[in-house]
Amino acid sequence: MNKLASRRAFLRGRVLRPDRSTIRPPGAVDHSFFELCHDCDVCVQACPQDIITIDAQGWPEVRFENAACTFCGDCADACPTGALDRDRVSDWPWRASFAATCLSKNGVTCRICQDICDRDALRFRLQLGGRSEPVLDTDACTGCGACAGACPVRAIGFERPTQDGPEVSA
Ligand code: SF4
Ligand code: SF4
Repeated sequence: MNKLASRRAFLRGRVLRPDRSTIRPPGAVDHSFFELCHDCDVCVQACPQDIITIDAQGWPEVRFENAACTFCGDCADACPTGALDRDRVSDWPWRASFAATCLSKNGVTCRICQDICDRDALRFRLQLGGRSEPVLDTDACTGCGACAGACPVRAIGFERPTQDGPEVSA
């Protein structure tokens, strides 16, 4: 960590432990993101989709409530510190996951996420009792977040694979 970042972290009482459960903007350099990011908010301003916000600790975070990511890379292009790397924008590890509150899992017919997915990455497997289980094609899913924003009960989150099993977004 450079001296400036170190001092800022000290003054703000931050814990510089990578919070890997939060979705950082595309191109976030995994291991040095927290050292390189200087909280300048340039990526927030650069995003045409307006999906980058600042989390409680001051780091940029992607949230899909209102729009999807187009992977345009404008955030990474604008980043002045290298915390976001343009060459890694397409290397997006997050994939949709479905919580127990999903309406279809609870017997209510809903296909909103399937309808909005332009990658055709979602299917529903019928279960007993009128329920159906969303099944994701993880190769087709880009993790764009369109389905998450459209879900009426906010049942869609994101996870990414790690050596210790899938990591789930906060
Ligand atoms: S890649 Fe483009 S749409 Fe996605 S977060 Fe960055 S600026 Fe926004
Ligand atoms: S994240 Fe995007 S690509 Fe993946 S299932 Fe949802 S809408 Fe489809």
